[in-house]
Amino acid sequence: MTDSDVTLPLVLLIDDDPTVHLWAKRHLSFAGFKLVSALNGDEGIELFQVHFPDIVLVDVEMPGIDGFITCAEIRKLPNGKNTPILMVTGSEDAERVGSSFDAGATDFVVKPVNWKVLIHRLGYMIKASSILHQLEKSQLRLSKAQQMAKLGHWEFNIGDKKLYWSDEIYEIFQQNPAVFIPEQHNFLDLVHDADKHLVEEGFDKALRNRTPINLTYRVRTKTKEERFVEHQIDVILNAQSQLIGLNGIIQDVSERKAHEKQVRYLAYYDEVTGLPNRACFLELLTKALELAKRNKRHLAVLFMDLDGFKAVNDSFGHQVGDLLLKEIAKRITDGLRRSDIASRCSLGEEHQSTDIARLGGDEFTILLNELARPEDAALVAENIQKWLAEITEIGGHQLVIGASIGIAIYPQDGEGCEILLKNADIAMYHAKKTGKGRYQFFHEDMNIKIKQRQLIEKCMHQALPKNELRLHYQPIVNAISGLLIGTEALMRWESPQLGFLAPLDFIPIAEENGFIIKFGEWAIREVCRQHKEWQTQGMGHLTIAVNLSSPQFNQAGFIPMVEAIIAEFEVDPAFLVFELTETIIMANNRKVVDTLWKLKEIGIKLSIDDFGTGYSSLSYLKNFPLDSLKIDRSFIKDLPINLDDVAIVKAILMLASTLSLQTVAEGVETPLQRDFMVNNKCESIQGFLFSKPMPVDEFKKYWQAEVANKLSE
Ligand code: C2E
Ligand code: MG
Ligand code: MG
Repeated sequence: MTDSDVTLPLVLLIDDDPTVHLWAKRHLSFAGFKLVSALNGDEGIELFQVHFPDIVLVDVEMPGIDGFITCAEIRKLPNGKNTPILMVTGSEDAERVGSSFDAGATDFVVKPVNWKVLIHRLGYMIKASSILHQLEKSQLRLSKAQQMAKLGHWEFNIGDKKLYWSDEIYEIFQQNPAVFIPEQHNFLDLVHDADKHLVEEGFDKALRNRTPINLTYRVRTKTKEERFVEHQIDVILNAQSQLIGLNGIIQDVSERKAHEKQVRYLAYYDEVTGLPNRACFLELLTKALELAKRNKRHLAVLFMDLDGFKAVNDSFGHQVGDLLLKEIAKRITDGLRRSDIASRCSLGEEHQSTDIARLGGDEFTILLNELARPEDAALVAENIQKWLAEITEIGGHQLVIGASIGIAIYPQDGEGCEILLKNADIAMYHAKKTGKGRYQFFHEDMNIKIKQRQLIEKCMHQALPKNELRLHYQPIVNAISGLLIGTEALMRWESPQLGFLAPLDFIPIAEENGFIIKFGEWAIREVCRQHKEWQTQGMGHLTIAVNLSSPQFNQAGFIPMVEAIIAEFEVDPAFLVFELTETIIMANNRKVVDTLWKLKEIGIKLSIDDFGTGYSSLSYLKNFPLDSLKIDRSFIKDLPINLDDVAIVKAILMLASTLSLQTVAEGVETPLQRDFMVNNKCESIQGFLFSKPMPVDEFKKYWQAEVANKLSE
């Protein structure tokens, strides 16, 4: 044999007669076969294992082991099972033929051999064997694929009621093929009790409608694990369209289901707390609303926001924050499970743990379903606040956390998911605004306020571009002489949509949404511009006080911005007074102190506004380069009748004098109040007694009138 012969079919001839080999070689090589020759059975078996022939020709009668034994031995070899073996017998007697087949021969041929005919036969046998081989291989592949896909097929014959299962189905149902009889009721026994009706209906439907059906159901297992199968049922019709059977496939989809469960978990649950997330909560709420609608019952949505969670996160890090959220989730879940009302309200056994969800951040929602009385929601809110009030120790830190809770009730506060959630959120916002650690039911007028606020926020965008902000000026006068020494610039907003807005209507909002930074910058620029103009009109000696909000003071680049404006208008900073609130000062961190000193270095005067309403202590004030205190209006209002206020104002004035600070009394409305201030050595006064804040033209007239008055004296 040469290498080029490799692809030619190979014949192994086992015969003790050398002449047969000669003939064989001649005829076979002529017909395109290769030949391997063995002169006895043992040699034949040996050569078979070396050459793996495509076909074997064995003489029956040989010395040593005869042809039958040789054939039987070859069949036992790993590759010998499917190789065609042709027996060459001396006669065609039945016994010999039978023995040939018993030994595993594929066919037999009688001597003398007609080589020309035999060659065709060999060719045919090799071809048949290779087709068989391929079929076997592809069946093996299919079964392997089915095994891998955990997929099996079945067939049911209506005539004899016989059901056939492939091996994989036995495996899927964990049944032994030797013992289990695949009959319909046996099969149904393997289905999870809760899904039996589904399977029975599926089969009925397929038979009745003669249409294919797909089912997914659970399988009963000995262990407690959940196994799912997908079952496809197809109908078999004969040529006359009569139903003669059913067939289909069954696939074990437990793994896929587990993945789906995992995906669902990620999509519907919060990873930190394990609670349902927003999407899941909305689904639960939708279902609960349908139920409440049908049963004409109340339902409550509680919206909870933690008080001071940001501070925990900022001070101790996110890890501690996450652990705290987890602990809170646990406390509420456990608490709700224990509490009477919640169990009365819960969605039933299956949903008990889903009453509470985490929407994100430090926001949680609680759904109280089938609420007997709306007031019961308040009890739950109170309980939650009680559970949270207990100290939590995390990572060695003792944490106390509270929560503000808003409550919206179906149907009065909204009939849909989104609106109920939104209104509960609005109520929560109000609870937070009016002091933390409270709960609050939703009222319709809250909505009006929110809408108004939204409108204000929308319009705010154009306040500066459309030049809608104004500064009004209120005189600050010398307490004794009553003469103008300065003014406070107070912001107003003339909005075409909203009308005239006082600071209280929009400054708190601007402080929250950050607009105050730009508004405040505008005010500083505007007073500098105004001062420049007044300089040319003889009013350059008046100080102008500007109010600063805390976000402004803490913004990056605040000092350079102030410097740039002063440089832009080339003004002397000494005319400028910045009014700061006690909250700004109270932060008392390095940055605040630095900023105050830098302002001082620039030459700007610093005043504490609304003094007495915050918690400034003497020791604080000593640390800052302040110029004056403005006594809050609330202490002036009832002077000199209210003796407490008398004492307070006197103390403030003494304190100021000790610290060498100037004093301004704010909100002086009566001559008696003015006299009190004069008698107690308060230097300057601001209040309606002299004038309300005025537009710039009026303020100018006020000053001109004073000048004219002086001249006429
Ligand atoms: P504030 O700085 O304490 O200003 C004094 C407030 O008291 C002014 O109210 C003024 O009109 C009012 N007022 C003065 N004298 C009397 C009086 O005799 N009786 C009564 N009943 N009220 C008097 P306004 O203009 O409504 O300003 C309210 C607050 O808005 C200001 O309180 C200030 O904190 C803030 N604000 C005003 N303009 C600005 C600004 O440009 N920026 C910042 N950040 N806040 C501003
Ligand atoms: Mg002020
Ligand atoms: Mg004030």
